[in-house]
Amino acid sequence: MKLNEIIRESLNAEMKRQQDHIELIASENYVSEAVLIANGSIFTNKYAEGYPGRRYYGGCLNVDKVEQLGIDVAKKLFDAEHVNIQPHSGSQANAAAYKAFLKPGDKVLAMDLRAGGHLSHGFDLNFSGEVYEFAFYGVNKDTYYIDFEEVRNKALEFKPNMILAGASAYSREIDFNKFREIADEVGAYLMVDMAHIAGLVAGRAHSNPCPIADVVTTTTHKTLRGARGGMIFCKQKFAKKVDSAVFPGVQGGPLEHLIAGKTQALIEASDPSFLEYANQVVKNSKALCKVLMDNNIFVLTNGTDNHLLNIEVKTAFNITGKKAEAILESIGIVCNKELLPFDTESSVNTSGLRLGTAAMTTRGFKEKEFEQVGRIIVDALNNKDLESLKKEVKTLCDNFPIYNNIKY
Ligand SMILES: *Cc1c(COP(=O)(O)O)cnc(C)c1O
Repeated sequence: MKLNEIIRESLNAEMKRQQDHIELIASENYVSEAVLIANGSIFTNKYAEGYPGRRYYGGCLNVDKVEQLGIDVAKKLFDAEHVNIQPHSGSQANAAAYKAFLKPGDKVLAMDLRAGGHLSHGFDLNFSGEVYEFAFYGVNKDTYYIDFEEVRNKALEFKPNMILAGASAYSREIDFNKFREIADEVGAYLMVDMAHIAGLVAGRAHSNPCPIADVVTTTTHKTLRGARGGMIFCKQKFAKKVDSAVFPGVQGGPLEHLIAGKTQALIEASDPSFLEYANQVVKNSKALCKVLMDNNIFVLTNGTDNHLLNIEVKTAFNITGKKAEAILESIGIVCNKELLPFDTESSVNTSGLRLGTAAMTTRGFKEKEFEQVGRIIVDALNNKDLESLKKEVKTLCDNFPIYNNIKY
């Protein structure tokens, strides 16, 4: 059978779109061609319920080899006692982690969505908010850093079964030891969701929660730059609970083609060049941050330690985050509006933007290019000549090609 024309055209159009814009969505990245090959491989045909060496289907010889390799590489890379690399996504990983450690109705203290938390951390419309009882901590109103006094006070008062650390929009290093102390003080499990920062952890540009927390979940497609999916790390004593929460708890057959894509990415992340990448991601986000701050834009926490920054656009430019996102998209810079902690705008409009540097670092951008991007953003939001800014973006993109020899 031939590839359907609409699919083919859309894939080629998407290739062009990805090539021709500057990607600042903090949760996106460009995987290697090797990861793409693994993702699109014949492993998609295989049922493999169970785990390597103990499957409920025959013929698992080859998928076993790859999944076991992924497990071994992941454990070493993240210094973890046990890992499950089957979760289909970050949200699925969280569902399984909760199921392994909690009963319906149990209490979890997590970061407020407004402060940078994630939907799967207890949002009312998410399964997590329906099944478990969540309470939330936020950030300090003056510094925008996680307020550990608030975390501790809420933990003492709420008596959670689990404390959850990790965020989707927090620009500072998270002190996992402080969370551990508080969890121990109140007798709670400590779970860390490192979805955003996993690539920085692998590249030694952020401290590693795996030796500290009882359970750590992640996505594999953000800073880690792998196939879309999730993973769960835990202490050996919880291995059985975690594995059976993933399968048969919340999933059936694992997606072995994506497990091959994750495994390839984990191998790439174990290469010394990945240390450089992770380090450059952080240097780039600091460079972008400096240009914006020099232009009197408020960056939350007054800086960044990781791959992202949250900026306030309403004060500097008198526009909403929604409008700012649209202006930038019109010149070829893609990012997302962000509801800021204490935001006075609605979640549809917002006062801010979230900007991330991982994807363009993969493409080869260094500080110099990010300083230019920062200046383009300032000029665009000040409504300078958008046509010439658009050309500048296109030239930058042309100088840093993505995939050279892929055509559908
Ligand atoms: C992205 C993210 C997830 C969810 O990942 P999906 O693969 O989109 O389900 C979970 N937790 C955090 C903190 C995230 O940033």
